[in-house]
Amino acid sequence: MSAIPVVSEVPIDTDHRPTPVSSAPIPEAARPPLALWVEGLSVTFDGFKALTDITLTLEKGELRCLIGPNGAGKTTLMDCITGKTRPTEGAVYLENRLTDLTKLSECRIAQLGIGRKFQRPTVFQGHTVYENCELALKGNKGVFHTLFARLKPADRTRIDEILELIGLKDHAKRQAGLLAHGQKQWLEIGMLLAQSPTVLLIDEPIAGMTHAETERTAELLRGLAGAHTVVVVEHDMEFVRSIARRVTVLHQGKVLAEGPMAQIQKDPRVVEVYLGE
Ligand code: ADP
Ligand code: MG
Repeated sequence: MSAIPVVSEVPIDTDHRPTPVSSAPIPEAARPPLALWVEGLSVTFDGFKALTDITLTLEKGELRCLIGPNGAGKTTLMDCITGKTRPTEGAVYLENRLTDLTKLSECRIAQLGIGRKFQRPTVFQGHTVYENCELALKGNKGVFHTLFARLKPADRTRIDEILELIGLKDHAKRQAGLLAHGQKQWLEIGMLLAQSPTVLLIDEPIAGMTHAETERTAELLRGLAGAHTVVVVEHDMEFVRSIARRVTVLHQGKVLAEGPMAQIQKDPRVVEVYLGE
């Protein structure tokens, strides 16, 4: 029997190391950078299929609208992305398929940069607008930090930027409970931003807003895209038209159609199940 050749150990020449070869199976440069990649996601509740084989990719910095009739699975999809619901099958990858969010806790997913805004604002009513932002900013640094730490100059700058962005700079000292409905919604978006999320999931942001507040919200969401990847669930088609570039239509737990708003509006299947209502 011939001996198995043994590769001799050679001392590493630190000045002339070979360039490391990437072990990635697919060349990253061949596709646009992704923020989120939902792959073959299915959710079953007591035998009822709420989501069936959902595959969806979000490019970094895009603003995506998610539409569909009631019960289509929009909220369930967001629940899976944020870890609130465990899918029966499939995965949700962050960025370039390195982290499967469905294996992580809700808290860890939030730390990794997925921020979610529910329909009802959950601001601290008894605190000022500024304090709400301050609490959100320190929130991910532990209780000790939240109670005792002073704001660093960089934190103050960040809060000022956020207040400017959400249009509440002149209301910084106001008690949050006294804000108008629309302003509370913006404050909550600001509080999400304080946690520096890369992906923002926003469920029905304009419900109950005045026309002026709706316009301001559209402007705000458009402004957030680019630096963030934004997913908006909304029923108001006028609003969707005003913000969306790409739209995904869910129906009975499946992706019915996806594309630019102009194309989606003309899609006979979409008109039949949703827009024609
Ligand atoms: P949408 O947000 O598009 O209106 P949902 O995601 O809330 O739809 O719901 C999708 C379907 O899944 C609905 O038929 C709903 O009744 C069902 N569903 C959602 N959550 C649960 C749950 N926790 N248990 C059982 N059924 C659920
Ligand atoms: Mg819903």
